[in-house]
Parts: sequence; structure tokens; C-alpha cells
Amino acid sequence: MKIHRIEVHEVRLEMVEPFVTSFGRIEHRDLLVLKVHSDIGVTFSDVPVLHGPFYNAESVQTARHALCDFLGPKILEEHIDTIKCLHGLMTFVRGHYMAKSGLDTACQHLFAAQAGQSLSQRLGGARERIEVGISIGIYPHIDQLLDRVSRALDEGFARIKVKIKPGWDLEPLRAVRQAFGDIRLMADANSAYVPGDFEVFRKLDGLGLLMIEQPFSPDDLYQHSRLQKKIETPVCLDESVETLEDAELALAIKAGRVINIKLSRVGGLGPAVAIHDLCQDEGIPVWCGGVMETAIGQADCLALASLPNFQLPADIAPSSRYFERDLIDPFVALEKGTIVVPTGPGLGFEIDEKALNDLTLRKVTIE
Ligand code: MG
Repeated sequence: MKIHRIEVHEVRLEMVEPFVTSFGRIEHRDLLVLKVHSDIGVTFSDVPVLHGPFYNAESVQTARHALCDFLGPKILEEHIDTIKCLHGLMTFVRGHYMAKSGLDTACQHLFAAQAGQSLSQRLGGARERIEVGISIGIYPHIDQLLDRVSRALDEGFARIKVKIKPGWDLEPLRAVRQAFGDIRLMADANSAYVPGDFEVFRKLDGLGLLMIEQPFSPDDLYQHSRLQKKIETPVCLDESVETLEDAELALAIKAGRVINIKLSRVGGLGPAVAIHDLCQDEGIPVWCGGVMETAIGQADCLALASLPNFQLPADIAPSSRYFERDLIDPFVALEKGTIVVPTGPGLGFEIDEKALNDLTLRKVTIE
């Protein structure tokens, strides 16, 4: 396969409600969407960076820079016959995994469509439905959190994840546990704590949480391994794992007992499957996280989460969760806490190009 042209759309999606985490407040979702033209077809893919380098080191601007000035020109008109070959071409750029992910997923869609396979089939998926949970942001008052959890349970989500930060941790989680009893409940700190904060995790340990996600800095696997020795609750790694090598190190030093695989964070579906396979061999369960992708990225997540070692509910949202208007219409609905894995060839959905064009703030074409 050869790629002839890549359109890089900077898109703004309006949020149903602002989403607040320990690193800030997201009022609207700015990210990149690629339209990739090749000799075997055309597809669309997500580059779900945030507007600034808050979740990881990438942003809308850095991803556009990496794609338009380096990655795009490098791969254009090259023979790309496998995903391994694509990643081989991209290794001269260090990091920038979300930018690379947009090219990885586009190629995966094209290869799958060419073979008449769904993306899930191409990856070796083993499930027809994915059990999904919800990630709930930080609210000013506990009553608002309880109200949101109550609605999420009514909507049928199979697991509740509450974002925490110092000052918003034990009290809100205890309140959720008291109000809703034995639900599947977990916490996500997005790296907001420092090693001196061990005490709060000892107290959280008594709440029977499914896991505590990424308490410390992404670079600090050592402190995660120290914490995991001191508490019963599984520590889950998110931001700390950007590569297969990160995952190998994390497992070797027992820095956690669960990994949240976000395909965009690790450079796409190719690396995500490699991390899944490693964890499966080591007996470590994984689950599929999200970074408020468009419906295109969510479709990639559904295919990934159909692999056998994705044992815990995924953060994949039905259309109505985050955005007023999305790029696939209609996208997916929640049925009894699950979403159906698409079976059509390639991405498995038609893109609403009118929506894409209406929501595009600016566009750069690499050709
Ligand atoms: Mg997380």
C-alpha cells in the first residue's frame, strides 16, 4: 500500500458538560482527525491529543508539527505492507505516540477493509460486546458527584471510575460507597500525588476499590511499586506505560497489577496489541481506557477491547456521553452496560463528513 495524501483536520467538539480532572478543566474538545488517501482506499483516524500537554507531553500543536513536518512526509509514497513496516518508518521520531497512533490506526483500517475483515477480526478479537464503565470527573460538591453516579448507574454503566486529587479523594469515594453499596468502583488520580501521600492510599485500601489508577508521576514506576507492596488494592498504570518496554519494566518491578491500555498513548493498535500480549503471558489483566476520542477513536477502542485479555470494563462512551455532535451518526448506544463491536469491514462505520467539515477549525494537507 502507498499513502498519497493526508489531510490533518483540527477539530473542535462541543462538550455536553465540562470534564474536570486533576490536570484541569476541558470546556470543549480540540483534537486532530486525519483523512488518509491511499491506493487501496480512503479512511479517517483520530489523534486524540489534548489542547495542551497535560495528559501526556503532546498537544494539538505538537502533533500537527510531528505529522506535517516529519511523519507524514516520511511515509508518503513509501511501500507500507505491514504495520511493523509503518512503525519502522516512524521510529526516527522519538515519542509523539498519539501522532503516530493516527497513522497506525488509519493503516489498520485500510488493511482490514482490503482483506474484507472487521478491525476486531484483524486484531484477533474474541468478543462481540464490550462491557463499559464510565469515568466521572471532579465536581465542586459531593452531592453533584452522587447525582452523577446515580444517573450513570441508571444508564447501565458496568463500572464507576471517580477522578481524584489531593483534597478530593477519601471523602467522595466513601460517600459513593455508602450511597450505592457494592458497585464496581475505582479511582483515577492522573498522577496527582507525591510519594509522601501514601497514607491516603492506605485509607482508600479499606473501600474495596477495583483498582487505584496512576497515583504518582508517569516517570515514577519505583514509587508505584513501593505503594503496591503496601496496599491490597491493585495499582493500575496508565500514563506510566507509553511503550512495550515501559510495560516490561513495570511488570518486572511489580509496579502495578493492572494496566490501562490506551491505544493512542502507546502509538496505535500495533503497540497496544503487543502490550496486551505481554500482559496476557504474564497473567496481568488489562482494560481499554479512553482520552475522549471522537467516535472514530472509540470504534478503534471497541476493536481493541474485543481481545481476550481485556478483562475489565472499558472506558468507551456511547455517543451522548461527551459531545453535542460527533463524527459518526448514529454511533453506539449502551445496552445493559455493553456496546456491540462493529462487524463491518475496516473501521466499520460511515463517517459524517459534513460534521467533520463543520467542526474543522483549520486543515493542513500533506501531499
Ligand atoms: Mg487514567
